[in-house]
This record gives sequence, C-alpha cells and structure tokens, in this order.
Amino acid sequence: MNDRILVTALVLALSVPASALAAGAGPATPSGARAKEAIVKVTHSEKEWQKLLTSEQFRVLRQHGTEVAFTGKYWNNHAEGTYLCAACGLELFSSATKFDSGTGWPSFWQPFEKSHVIVNTDASYGMSRDEVTCARCGGHLGHVFDDGPKPTGLRYCINSAALKFAEKDKK
Ligand code: FE
Repeated sequence: MNDRILVTALVLALSVPASALAAGAGPATPSGARAKEAIVKVTHSEKEWQKLLTSEQFRVLRQHGTEVAFTGKYWNNHAEGTYLCAACGLELFSSATKFDSGTGWPSFWQPFEKSHVIVNTDASYGMSRDEVTCARCGGHLGHVFDDGPKPTGLRYCINSAALKFAEKDKK
C-alpha cells in the first residue's frame, strides 16, 4: 500500500514539471520565424527612473503623459530603422510598419514583436482606450486603436518621447 502511494506521488511529481515544460515550449514556430526570447523585466524605483530619463521621457513613460501632437521627434521621421524603448532599449516598432496617420504622433500598424508590448484597458479621461506599455520596463508608450491600415487594421499611436530611433546602417 505504501509503495503504491509512493509510486503515485512520484508519477505526480514527475508529471507536473514535464507538462509545464511542454506548455512552456509551445507549438513549433513557423519556418523563418525568429526564436522568441524571454523578456527579462527591467525595474527601477520611480526615483531612479527620474534620474535615468529626461523630464519629458519621465512624464510620458512613468506618469502616463502625452506629448503635444506634432511636437515630438519622430512623428515625421521617415528614415529606415528600429524604434527602441527610450527607457530600456527594447525593440518596439520597425520603420517598415510606420505610416502617416495625420495625428502628429508616430503611428505603427504592428509592434516589432507582439511580446514586446503589453496592451491594457485605460479608462482615464472618461474614455475606454487600450494603453500600450513596454513589456520589459512597463513604461507607458501610447494607445492602440482599431482604425489603422491593412493588414492589421491597428493604429499604435505612440509618443516620440517614449522612443529612441536606431537608424539602419547606410551602406
Ligand atoms: Fe522599456
């Protein structure tokens, strides 16, 4: 009897990590897809962030601020490259998915990697909007709306102050 309990316990103990491992591995990635890297969170106290960021970056990224339309660094940037998080450097958007939305904020129809941004419902100012944050540092980036162009129909409306542009090397 005791043996049977022991065996059952052993099977249970072994089956949990095995199934957890299988779930963690996920389905096979389609050929050509980049292997997904785990996002290691970057955390700082608000006091530390204040030292690390400019006052405008801090206001947008850490205090959910919005820059005035047509005043940011990147709304009219048409260079090729990658937009990184101004706080932690994570790749957030590619110039290949940037479009002229006419809003005065950098607008993209897709993130660099789906896992690099987190979308939360934001009910501030009496509106229901989907807030976009950086998956690594939690910084506020902007909002996502469903009136974007094809193929996604999404419009990621992002503050320039939350971004740092890395221009593609000119050859
Ligand atoms: Fe970040």
